[in-house]
Amino acid sequence: MDYKNLIAGQWDATSEACPNVNPSDVSDVIGTAAQSDTADMDRAIDSASAAAPGWAAATPQMRFDVLDFVGSEILARKAELGQLLSREEGKTLPEGIGEAARAGQIFKFFAGECLRQTGDRLASVRPGVEVDVTRAPVGVVGLITPWNFPIAIPAWKIAPALAYGNAVVMKPAELTPGCAWALAEIISRSGLPEGVFNIVFGKGSVVGQHMVDHPKVDAVSFTGSVPTGRGIAVACARSMKKVQLEMGGKNPMVVLDDADLDLAVEACLNGAFYSTGQRCTASSRLIVTDGIHDRFVAALTKAMQGLKVGNALEAGIQMGPVVDARQLEQNLSYLKIAAEEGGTVIGGEGLSLAQEGFYMAPALVTETRNDMRINREEVFGPVASVLRARDYDEALALANDSTFGLSAGICTTSLKRASHFKAHAEAGMVMVNLPTAGVDYHVPFGGTKGSSYGAREQGSYAAEFYTRVKTAYTLP
Ligand code: ADP
Repeated sequence: MDYKNLIAGQWDATSEACPNVNPSDVSDVIGTAAQSDTADMDRAIDSASAAAPGWAAATPQMRFDVLDFVGSEILARKAELGQLLSREEGKTLPEGIGEAARAGQIFKFFAGECLRQTGDRLASVRPGVEVDVTRAPVGVVGLITPWNFPIAIPAWKIAPALAYGNAVVMKPAELTPGCAWALAEIISRSGLPEGVFNIVFGKGSVVGQHMVDHPKVDAVSFTGSVPTGRGIAVACARSMKKVQLEMGGKNPMVVLDDADLDLAVEACLNGAFYSTGQRCTASSRLIVTDGIHDRFVAALTKAMQGLKVGNALEAGIQMGPVVDARQLEQNLSYLKIAAEEGGTVIGGEGLSLAQEGFYMAPALVTETRNDMRINREEVFGPVASVLRARDYDEALALANDSTFGLSAGICTTSLKRASHFKAHAEAGMVMVNLPTAGVDYHVPFGGTKGSSYGAREQGSYAAEFYTRVKTAYTLP
């Protein structure tokens, strides 16, 4: 399969192509993606710019019909799309199918939002004057997406962008072009006018950077790493674009003495290792109070070592491979550093299985301090560290001692502690007796501190980013 760019309604071939390799079995090349140049990006932006006024004027019914079509088709094909997702990204098949279904639900939610767009009508402070506050589309939005949720993240950016009347140019992640292409192909048959949605495959440093610098792009929504996000924020400030960034996490999960042990182990196993730990909301710092620490570590170690690691597409597999060789090397090198800094590493060996892929055993690093690199920097793999805390107060202080602030969790049976934690955890999302990862799609997603920048994504809060507010005064 050749993944071609979609520009102005045409599937467009470029000469160079890049292989899409299955991380569970590197002999399996799923397809090849266009390696576009800046001229391709220019054409996509021109196409979106020309199509933007027409889509901004489209009726809510027309927008609803397009989004509803896309959502329905994704849901009907969730098994096939989920299989493609697992094959190119490496999360297990149930996770892949679940994510595909999520993408469909997101389109359905925003189809509904097309019909629910509201404004405010206020009394003026001046006699006889009427004041209306309405929302208008931003114009051309550039979407830059990562590989770890290759269909859900594109969906949660594309669906609100279109629902609120914007034209789109999307630059998907290099490692997962298949899902992005499949989504673009569905959109191309949805009745959306040509040119409103464009997709350009290629290198972030080439076509992504060009999009971010381009004067005809009005807003950029990005999910990815902190250094790339920081560069994008600077570029957007230079050209005065609206910008929304979702970046990393170093998410704490506090386990208190009064926690239900089985529930805490299950939440941490899921939060740390599901999706091979490749979630920005992964539970990567497990902060455990003294009275339960040893029992918790023993039970989590046993559960972790029982996880079945293997080919993402095989039945019964609980953890697939790491996404690529570079990420695998980074994970293993963080474990080496953690050991050198005094942590005790359990598991984490590179694994050779029947098919050649990027496999490793999940790892727990115990007896760590919060100033160790393993607790400061995002690993983005199946690696969690354990920190000891004297009591709740120390656990909360450790949880908040991070440059990140995406998600924070607590396992406790104390309503008082849970309420206190919800109020005082420095994170955009707080979970009580639930993994730090795993969110609903109809409520805001995003963090504080170095994790996020700009308006929140998802739910009706997405309107903050994908619209501009206009205030109109009338003297009838
Ligand atoms: P990762 O290291 O996980 O790949 P990145 O932040 O590098 O995370 O990538 C996230 C997305 O950002 C990808 O689609 C990538 O191509 C894109 N990207 C990378 N560098 C740039 C850049 N300089 N400008 C715009 N987009 C970029």
